[in-house]
Amino acid sequence: MSTLPGAPFLERRADGALWLDGVNLQQLAREHGTPLYAYSRNAMVSAASAYQRALAGRPHLLCYAMKANSSLAVLRTFAQLGCGFDIVSAGELARVIAAGGDPAKVVFSGVGKRRDEMRAALQAGVKCFNVESESELRTLSEVAISLGTTAPVSLRVNPDVDAGTHPYISTGLKGNKFGIAHERARAVYAQAARLPGLKVVGIDCHIGSQITDASPYLDALDRLLDLIEQIEADGVPIHHLDLGGGLGITYSDEQPPAADALVGALLARIDARGHGHREVLFEPGRSLVGNAGVLLAEVLVLKPGDGSEGSKNFCIVDAAMNDMVRPAMYEAWMAIEPCQTRGDTPAQAWDVVGPVCESGDWLGRERTLAVREGDVLALLSAGAYGMTMASNYNTRPRAAEVMLDQGQATLIRRREQVQDLFRDEV
Ligand SMILES: *Cc1c(COP(=O)(O)O)cnc(C)c1O
Repeated sequence: MSTLPGAPFLERRADGALWLDGVNLQQLAREHGTPLYAYSRNAMVSAASAYQRALAGRPHLLCYAMKANSSLAVLRTFAQLGCGFDIVSAGELARVIAAGGDPAKVVFSGVGKRRDEMRAALQAGVKCFNVESESELRTLSEVAISLGTTAPVSLRVNPDVDAGTHPYISTGLKGNKFGIAHERARAVYAQAARLPGLKVVGIDCHIGSQITDASPYLDALDRLLDLIEQIEADGVPIHHLDLGGGLGITYSDEQPPAADALVGALLARIDARGHGHREVLFEPGRSLVGNAGVLLAEVLVLKPGDGSEGSKNFCIVDAAMNDMVRPAMYEAWMAIEPCQTRGDTPAQAWDVVGPVCESGDWLGRERTLAVREGDVLALLSAGAYGMTMASNYNTRPRAAEVMLDQGQATLIRRREQVQDLFRDEV
């Protein structure tokens, strides 16, 4: 049994077969077809447990940032563990409710909420709106008054710290569309406290994604605690402190802190500064589901280069950028493993690409693989921002999804049918 990047329930057995959560992935692909997403339920449970262990014994709420993977079966898994949800649209709220999640444990984030979305969230009774602008505060107050209620709010503060991550997934720096500037926060809290349709309940930040170091979190926390002290001195009580999500996972050789270690360090700082009584929220997405998932694809065509300078060997698979956009969008590196190793073919360097008509449609470059046409490959750490970012580009139906649990495989989403794709067209 060899170790593979990041994935705790993934194992390469002695006969060369790749297994996830007690299920042989090659057999799974033959049974359900490809492209196929498969998730280990136990990997998700253990990821959430690490956060919950560290938070035990104090008021807290772990809000799964469901944009990472919003399949109902995934949501249900986290709801059963007592998690709340971080949502960014009324559509996500509807999913939480459909999955049996508790709207009272939902925080509503996002820089552009529509009035109808605010209404839906107020009617469902969400825990908190994470507000990102002064304009949004005024609109939310109006909408709440029109419904004869008050909206619980937290302000998303931009602490202006560099999370040291990809520019597209860094959100806590000044030149960024998210949050309320740190310097403005005190004035905006005073404004929020005066608006009749609002009740201030907390403060939040979210500094980026795929963060592999604790220090930007500690910096952001210190800035938030400074603000809380000032805002409370101004007479506006702050009940909860929400430190967002963003903890990274291992795609190749990253070594992010373990969730319980990170949370432990943050809680120690909170306690040391005399804020230990506060309810603490986290909004992890990627770190709860990323390493739990794989995307399985079949090799359609091997197209070796002629060996001349600059020529490449292409391994064309049936999953593409419409199924997994991270490599095309962020130049993300994701491990690619054969579901069954073979000794009858020499390994060589392949660019693993999809069939979509874009040169940006690639999943991995220069990967040393021993493959033949018809083999099944697994893209690892594909549980986060995979299926939720999938599209129908090239009129490609979206993949099926399967949940794995100690040897049991359950289809949790049927493969989309081509007719589904133009059903709403005239
Ligand atoms: C995306 C997002 C998260 C989750 O980020 P991850 O990197 O997946 O942990 C949390 N909070 C907010 C506001 C987000 O936009």
